[in-house]
Amino acid sequence: MDSYFSKKIVTFMAITFSVLVIGTIHLGDSVFFSNKLETKTESKTDSEINPLKNFASKPKNSIDFRLPKNLLPNSYSLMIQPYIGTNDTWDNNKTFTFDAEIKINFTCVISTNKIVLHALDLELDADSFTIESEDDKTGLNIEKTFTTDEVKNFIIIKMSKECLEESQYILYMKYKGLISSNLYGFYRSSYKDVNGKIFHLASTQFEPTEARRAFPCFDEPAMKANFKLTMKRHRNFTSSLFNTPLVRNTTEGEWIIDEFDWTPKMSTYLVAFVVSNFKFINSKTSSNISVEVFGKSEDIENGNGEFALNETKNIIEFLENYFDVKYPLSKSSKSNFGHVNLVKTQVAVPDFSAGAMENWGLVIYREDSLFFNKKKDTIYDKQRISSTISHELAHQWFGNLVSPAWWNDLWLNEGFASWVEYLGTNYTHPEWRDLDYFYVKKLSVMELDSLESSHSVKFEVNDPSEIDSLFDEISYDKGASIIRMMNAFLTEDTFKKGVSNYLKNYSYDNAEQDNLWQYLTEQAYLDQSLDKSLSVKTIMDTWTLKKGYPVVNVIRDYQNKQIKLSQNWFLLNPTNKIKNTDEYNQYKWYIPFTFTSKESPDFNFETRPYWLKPDDKELILETAKIQSDSWIIGNLRHASFLRVNYDTNNWNLLINQLNNDHTVIHPINRAELLDDSFNLGRAELLNQVLFLNISKYLINENDSLPFFPAFNALDFISMFFDDDSETYDLFKNFFIRILNNTYKRLNWRDVDETDLDLQLNTLSVMCNLGLNDCIDKAKFYYKNWIDNDIPLKRNFKSVILTSVIKFGDNRTWFELYEKAISTIDNLEKLRLFKGLASSKDPSLLSFLLKKSRDLNVIRLQDSTSIISYVASNSFGKRLAFDYLVENWNELVERYGAFSFTLPTLIDSIIKTLNSNYYLKRLDDFIERAQDLGVAADAFKQAIEKINTNIRWKEKNLDSIHNWLKDNS
Ligand SMILES: [Zn+2]
Repeated sequence: MDSYFSKKIVTFMAITFSVLVIGTIHLGDSVFFSNKLETKTESKTDSEINPLKNFASKPKNSIDFRLPKNLLPNSYSLMIQPYIGTNDTWDNNKTFTFDAEIKINFTCVISTNKIVLHALDLELDADSFTIESEDDKTGLNIEKTFTTDEVKNFIIIKMSKECLEESQYILYMKYKGLISSNLYGFYRSSYKDVNGKIFHLASTQFEPTEARRAFPCFDEPAMKANFKLTMKRHRNFTSSLFNTPLVRNTTEGEWIIDEFDWTPKMSTYLVAFVVSNFKFINSKTSSNISVEVFGKSEDIENGNGEFALNETKNIIEFLENYFDVKYPLSKSSKSNFGHVNLVKTQVAVPDFSAGAMENWGLVIYREDSLFFNKKKDTIYDKQRISSTISHELAHQWFGNLVSPAWWNDLWLNEGFASWVEYLGTNYTHPEWRDLDYFYVKKLSVMELDSLESSHSVKFEVNDPSEIDSLFDEISYDKGASIIRMMNAFLTEDTFKKGVSNYLKNYSYDNAEQDNLWQYLTEQAYLDQSLDKSLSVKTIMDTWTLKKGYPVVNVIRDYQNKQIKLSQNWFLLNPTNKIKNTDEYNQYKWYIPFTFTSKESPDFNFETRPYWLKPDDKELILETAKIQSDSWIIGNLRHASFLRVNYDTNNWNLLINQLNNDHTVIHPINRAELLDDSFNLGRAELLNQVLFLNISKYLINENDSLPFFPAFNALDFISMFFDDDSETYDLFKNFFIRILNNTYKRLNWRDVDETDLDLQLNTLSVMCNLGLNDCIDKAKFYYKNWIDNDIPLKRNFKSVILTSVIKFGDNRTWFELYEKAISTIDNLEKLRLFKGLASSKDPSLLSFLLKKSRDLNVIRLQDSTSIISYVASNSFGKRLAFDYLVENWNELVERYGAFSFTLPTLIDSIIKTLNSNYYLKRLDDFIERAQDLGVAADAFKQAIEKINTNIRWKEKNLDSIHNWLKDNS
């Protein structure tokens, strides 16, 4: 699955630049900058407030919710007849339900008289139950009734006697189900065409545990089987789609019966089907794989699918080479069902909770993650599409061909796809420099993982609801970061070969992280890229089985020409109590550490590392060739997931180099110096103003990479200042001075793709800081659009809209609102809503919050984005907070089952808060809340962030004020 929100974290006027970091590249929407202190005076620290206590008092009961291992499925043969919308052919009470029949072939592995299966919200017809033995010698009967276990979603059917071990049986049943209005299981969606005609469709989203809502099944990833579907669709719908191609269709009155081929052996969560009136385009890869793109007819007719089609072809070719395994659905050698035809279908549906889902052979996308409109969409939209396709295609091998044995290895799936997506887009678009951008797009997970309330990438799930919470930034972004780290220390060549051997060995099967470690270690020994005293498992267990990451302290002995390396667990909160414990002192990693120096700067990604081991109190390196007035810099291109701290002298040597000629240092390392110094300052491991000293060199910076952490940090600092304070004025002036050269150089001109990103961010920041020249130009373009019908340049659209709303009048607001509610272009609608959310008028912002749940105005998949837009505006922060706590139960009901949605929403609302007022209100809220469910972790993390913010404010505001004064 692709977490749409990490690509399109929508919004944040407050955390303006988090959007830049994670989102802008893929978002394309403008960003905001207006982040001031809450105007309300807050009381002093109240040491009594510790909302985490509420979490401590509600321990989770761990239950065994796994299926018994007595029976194993071999195949499912499924017939579904959906009643989509109203129609003369069926009764109204059948509308949005389906009738179905299923035959499940299973093997009795350990004899039992019970069949235990998953099924949820299905109406089973017990009278229809039959069981047949393949050899028919056992004379088995089945009871025409069943019991259920609501918590585990089990149905339990009794057989007349125990099944014979190693015998195969076929269970048959009829049932009915709902085509839900939520975005999971078998669900419905609709859209209007240009003439206003409404079309319905039905689609699926089964990962992780929703297949059981569409058919009774052994719904665990390791219980792989072959699947076959017969879809009985009404002739009003032009097609149905399944994981495999259609083999036959026949007509029966009003109904068309589509029969599809058998799938290879695969997990239930990867099954998918769609019934719609979509049109398609198709093509073939050089290895003869047929590729299709399906969607609304106007999108297909406008050519909006062309980019995706082409991208898919190229990325499949790249991945076949990269993995050295042909596209998996071609032929399933281990399948009992022989040859499987090969199609790679991608379909865009108008309502989808994630960004996309990698169903084997039938990948389902959000429309804006697949369709590119050449006339309207921006480079960021194009990049989001390319990386989403690349991510989903990587899963066809990593996840689909070889699947996790259980959900606690999910990180391997998602981390891997989240890393390989960068390789894919780098192959098709090297000019985007995605491999360089990787680091700055993962800054947010480095912040998250420096909280004590973070969790390890691999962790046990004790409760069904915890499976959903595994789909988070840690699995995706930290997972990808530590896989990238392996690429560096093993070398790309060794890594690729090891992965390829692993995929070949576990094809159509399941595996755990230890299995991958074994293949990588074997290859590394063979290639001599890892010392035999180490193994990938020894190293990676320290990165995957515990949370957090280290800071490496680099202390130079200038006289003896040595450097001393040591490590500590990096915790953002300087007063964290755990720091005084043995646990903290023993919390260590196997660290691959690289460095270079002024003498011969070499920033090669695959530089052979020194190993700083958990037992090394200190690692001393001789550096005879490095002069005492030369700098050294560690963690080349941020290959390792950690921070580096230096002695003061070395920091100063680095600052001198940046000021004299920053290009000597690689752009990723320049970004790293900024982000590390800022966060080491927050953790009180370094004076916070050192970061400001470093950031002064940005006056001469032309590369957009280092601006990402700088914007992030400066945005963070700005949220503590009062709007009309002297400090804020000083701060604004400092910021404008840093950006002024870039602003003048790029301005509103048409620039190359390489400069576009920096240009848009600069415009956005400058306008939001209130630079008159910037606002005047935005208003000028806007007026030309409204009065003279001269279209806004698509790249500048978001910057212009947010600026004219923020600095404009109510008439402008309503003008745009009319446009927002009338457009049928969903991406355009979101851009307009984002602009509307930058208003300073609380009544308009409250109005937007109300509209966020009006499905006539905004699609369910997008409604939390509207709330986040409002939260990111300093004038809307409190409104969004109130909205969250007052509407919590409703929000859980609407979005509780979408793994990404609520945690992302909470983070966007809460992370900029920095007062005891909010801490207290959160405390009350959590105490009262019945069910935090999938969002429990997000609340814990939010509370830790607020506490850290409060401490930061007390500690740093005065010194920053003084620094700004001295440097004005
Ligand atoms: Zn994924």
